[in-house]
Amino acid sequence: MGFDTIIVNGRIVTATDTSLADVALADGKIALIGKDLPRDNAARLIDARGRYGFPGGIDVHTHLDMPFGGTSSADDFETGTRAAAFGGTTTLIDFAIQYKGQTLRTAFDSWMQKASNKAVCDYSFHCIITDLAAAQLQEMNALVREGVSSFKLFMAYPGVFMLDDASIFKALRATSKNGALICMHAENGGAIDVIVQQALAEGKRAPKYHALTRPTTAEAEATSRAIALAEMAGAPLYIVHLSCNEALEKVREARDRGLPVYAETCPQYLYLSLENFDAPGFEGAKYVFTPPLREKWHQEKLWNGLKRDHLQVVSTDHCPFCFKDQKELGKDDFTKIPNGGPGVEHRMSLIYSGGVAKGRFSVNRFVELVSTTPAKLFGLYPRKGTIAVGSDADMVIFDPEREHTISAATHHMRVDYSMFEGIRVTGMPDVVLSRGRVIIENNAFLGRAGQGQFLKRSTYAVP
Ligand SMILES: [Zn+2]
Repeated sequence: MGFDTIIVNGRIVTATDTSLADVALADGKIALIGKDLPRDNAARLIDARGRYGFPGGIDVHTHLDMPFGGTSSADDFETGTRAAAFGGTTTLIDFAIQYKGQTLRTAFDSWMQKASNKAVCDYSFHCIITDLAAAQLQEMNALVREGVSSFKLFMAYPGVFMLDDASIFKALRATSKNGALICMHAENGGAIDVIVQQALAEGKRAPKYHALTRPTTAEAEATSRAIALAEMAGAPLYIVHLSCNEALEKVREARDRGLPVYAETCPQYLYLSLENFDAPGFEGAKYVFTPPLREKWHQEKLWNGLKRDHLQVVSTDHCPFCFKDQKELGKDDFTKIPNGGPGVEHRMSLIYSGGVAKGRFSVNRFVELVSTTPAKLFGLYPRKGTIAVGSDADMVIFDPEREHTISAATHHMRVDYSMFEGIRVTGMPDVVLSRGRVIIENNAFLGRAGQGQFLKRSTYAVP
């Protein structure tokens, strides 16, 4: 039996086990895992001595090539997936946006068009619903059958993305039957808008007021309301980009009661805080995204939530806008600053560094948070999210000792600043494989645009 590649001498890590083993790859899949596999029948050997073999990272929250406030996020599906690959992430789930009056199919088709010739690693979509009439409610079932098995709804941004409680409840009831998972942006948009208008009237226009007008209570209230609606509908629920302890408490309480409620947080909420708005001039605009940064003490609560499984996933909400020309659109008014920050490249290293290297949780928990649970919740497991015979050969050879200082000068995202500028991480991906092909090695990109495949996902399964 011939193999395309054998990864030898690595410590192979899944969500449950760590073992010293060889992993043989053939035809884009993991073909065999074992001790001392015969090496002469492989076209290529990769020596992973002293390093880990992880399943490829899965980032379930990115916004590539996304229109926002008269501009578009700075990474498209080529530059964004390439930057992800540099960081050890080999699968993205992005968002196809349905605008008011459109069919869900229109959203799906137009995002497929953005991605299909560009993506360098595999991708899939959640569908954002902003207008839910009877026709779209029906269409949800059709989309699920086509492998778009999750939908995102907003409780914020009234007049743009926000749905009312009745529509949210209807969507949840539909997913309780069709097996899809609702991803919720949980912030009380109505109350926030009132606070924002008052701030503007008082002449408060600097970037920091984006954060100061979105209280943690607004996130906690919406989280709690979303959980109640999901409970009444008998549906599972996934809270996106949870940023604060008050919302975390709501998720923890729901899970303690046995409800199928899940939540993700993002590296920015674990590493950054309101203190970042002390940056001079308009620099605070680099940290304008939603939900906003919080007081520093929330960070340790979130790390603890990851450790204790009150939070199940780390995604990035990667939505980059350049400081020059894009963030600057809001120079005189924080409400005009495009919301979003770049992060897709450094998720694995930031979470490994702060989680495993700092002793907060095990390397197996790390794999669970960045790959296995995302795959399970979003219908990709066991094709993605683990190292097992028959799984896609998406793998990361990760050096736990290698240190790196994050900087816009060296990153691969198409954006002119880094949210994590100057932060030193321990642990970096050395070699990255996507379906058996080496796409990153020696800091070089060896893949090609259009290599990524659309992933038709199955429905939600209890992880
Ligand atoms: Zn987002």
